[in-house]
Amino acid sequence: MRPLAAHFAAAPHLLDLRGEFPGVPADWAYLDAAATAQKPRAVIEAITRAYAQDYATVHRGVYARSARMTEAYEAAREAAAGFIGGRPGETIFVRGATEAINLVANSWGRSNIQEGDRILLSRLEHHSNIVPWRMLADRVGADIDVAPLAADGRIDEDALIAMIGPRTKLVAIAHVSNVLGGVADIRRIARAAHAKGALLLADGCQAAPRLKVDVAALEADFYCFSGHKLYGPTGIGVLWVRGEILAGMPPWQGGGAMIDEVRFDHVSFARPPQRFEAGTPHIVGALGLHAAVRWVNEVGIEAIEAHERALLSMARASLARFDGLRLFGPEESAGILSFAVGDVHPHDVATILDEGGVAIRAGHHCAQPLMQWLGVPATARASFSAHSNEADVARLLAGVERTMRIFG
Ligand code: PMP
Repeated sequence: MRPLAAHFAAAPHLLDLRGEFPGVPADWAYLDAAATAQKPRAVIEAITRAYAQDYATVHRGVYARSARMTEAYEAAREAAAGFIGGRPGETIFVRGATEAINLVANSWGRSNIQEGDRILLSRLEHHSNIVPWRMLADRVGADIDVAPLAADGRIDEDALIAMIGPRTKLVAIAHVSNVLGGVADIRRIARAAHAKGALLLADGCQAAPRLKVDVAALEADFYCFSGHKLYGPTGIGVLWVRGEILAGMPPWQGGGAMIDEVRFDHVSFARPPQRFEAGTPHIVGALGLHAAVRWVNEVGIEAIEAHERALLSMARASLARFDGLRLFGPEESAGILSFAVGDVHPHDVATILDEGGVAIRAGHHCAQPLMQWLGVPATARASFSAHSNEADVARLLAGVERTMRIFG
């Protein structure tokens, strides 16, 4: 057995950002960033400022502070769009990835998917990229196809591409799996979809915080992510839609701010993206997301990716030393690692780890079809982020060792 220290000594240069996270004390290994990321001080301070000396509504007030807040809100949109290589006019603020996918299903989906049409998903999707499509399919009489996974738990892209048929209107897949961390080749799949007249939606919830995303290079048609997984606040996220498609999309929710003119017998709507932002938006959320994007840009998303991959391969190599420990998912994965400790229930694993100051997630991770494929009801999942470090990995290993001792 290779000594543990050897894995640590082999570590490349890692980021040292722990001090920027007031919510993560040095002796707590927070390894649940795939559920939600802890917040750097810059984000917390931006939120405080936005609720204090800068607070006002947007798009309505004529007084100076409201005008400044409107500028700040639109600057946040520009930053969020730029972060994924999109244009601000194609970028809608939503509550998160879940709302983004529901918006696409209810707006574009209801006007473009008809009886007999097909929607192609993969077996590893998060429930938020399954349920809205199931609801739409039931409503309009469409069918859902499910692409299989390869042996290592990545989407079997050859099989998926072979499944795109003449009635396929949409391929909707995760860019990065929230359970196994595998990365899909979005551009390859988008090209194959387009060749058959279908569109491509990429759920970028786990990709945006850990990979460089460029929607133009990916050739996607829809791309979404949640702010809270990108070191920003909850309740804010981004849906990017290719301009030509967005221009033809009908509104989903109705109310203030999304209209041009309102009469009782007729309503005309604002242009996108306002058409899709009914009501007072999450103003402070947008500003907090802007601060998060700024922070990630300063650190460098490529540096975060390299850092997480280094920690992940260290954790994988170290955990692989234990007899009876099962590692799920591909070797090459982005910051997320699912595992099983013998036949100990993942909730017991997580409880014992918690006693040792290690926070991991245990459960089905909102991916029940994937659990069925893995043949387990749940997994233990460790996910890394910019503030993770080697000590966190060591604590994880110590917790796993302790679990094994307790359960014999
Ligand atoms: N898709 C993926 C891949 C996710 O990991 C998540 C969150 N776990 C979601 C969608 C849904 O994100 P939210 O709950 O922030 O809307």
